[in-house]
Amino acid sequence: MPLLEALHGEAMSKEALEKYDFNAISIATLASHSSLQIFRGAKQEGFRTVAIVVENRLWFYKQFKHLIDYFIVLRSWRELCRRDVVEELKKLSAVIVPHGSYVEYVGLECAESIEVPIFGLRKLFRVEADQWAKMKLLQEAGIPTPRLYKVGEEIDRLVIVKLPGAKGGRGYFLAKNSKEVLEGLRKRVEEGLLNSLEEAMIQEYLFGVPAYYHYFYSPVLDRVEMLGADIRYETNIDGLKRLPPKFSIELDLEPTFVVVGNIPLVLRESLLPKVLEYGVRFVEATKRMLPPGAIGPFCLESIIGEDMEIRVFEFSGRIVAGTNIYVNGSPYSYLYWDEPMSTGRRIARELKMAIEKGVLEKVVT
Ligand code: ATP
Repeated sequence: MPLLEALHGEAMSKEALEKYDFNAISIATLASHSSLQIFRGAKQEGFRTVAIVVENRLWFYKQFKHLIDYFIVLRSWRELCRRDVVEELKKLSAVIVPHGSYVEYVGLECAESIEVPIFGLRKLFRVEADQWAKMKLLQEAGIPTPRLYKVGEEIDRLVIVKLPGAKGGRGYFLAKNSKEVLEGLRKRVEEGLLNSLEEAMIQEYLFGVPAYYHYFYSPVLDRVEMLGADIRYETNIDGLKRLPPKFSIELDLEPTFVVVGNIPLVLRESLLPKVLEYGVRFVEATKRMLPPGAIGPFCLESIIGEDMEIRVFEFSGRIVAGTNIYVNGSPYSYLYWDEPMSTGRRIARELKMAIEKGVLEKVVT
């Protein structure tokens, strides 16, 4: 059973596409997150680029105007769906590349219903916004995931409690039993970080090392590529390692998981078959549950345990910021392409191939 039916915006974007000049397609994205990589990749592949930017960031992105052909300046990101902005994008024959901040900045409603073609599967935005639907998709794919608990359920091990919405780990906490879970949740409701206790997701805390895999599914070539991997550098959990344990115990320090950057990771080769298998399974599950299925970049976020078991606690259906490490290609992207191929450039290459083969509808929704 598909998770979601086709969206209104999807049909409207197809309508817009019919009026596009296929010889002058431009690549548009919000000036944030991984946009510089996206613009550079688009330029490398010969596309025009459009930066949708908020006023106070314009000066910064102007430093990179050799990568940007048009600026659409907004007072707030939420203005993206304003009629005149949409018309301007259509006039530029723009395809929007959604990145990790897209839905968070413009809101789910605008993100999925905008009448401009989107590179990727717009249906996936709604699934990504729902922590449970997200985990269900991973389970359907047959990818190992941490055990999930309901609020009030007996808890027999260390758990991580997650708040809804992509907040980069803000407000998350660890707990050892159901009493600690309830106390932590009530505090967060009081702080306004949560509306109701049931909104939180309780996951078994996985021991091991974090590893994030960057994939790209090409509908044109019908293959899943592994374009890179990274580790997130998170405060204060990564900083706590620098502190002798007796201080963190004495000071009663709580670990937090706010991302400050990304560190490159090259995996031992014997892990690669499993990593790629999970990427392929993810794509197949999206094809079954959310037809036509994933398009372009996505990321599986995992912990690798002592037994080399990979368990995935989260995914992103869009380009992740960890790919910014590989603006000039990664050790894996070289194996496929033998040229500097960032994820940003790979998006543009896919668009180019789709246009050349006359199958643009395979990569935009
Ligand atoms: P983003 O949207 O940036 O991916 P997020 O708000 O969705 O962030 P998660 O990625 O789910 O947050 O988790 C933040 C961090 O918490 C992870 O990078 C990881 O360090 C840790 N973490 C999350 N889930 C688990 C788990 N089940 N076991 C151990 N650590 C976890």
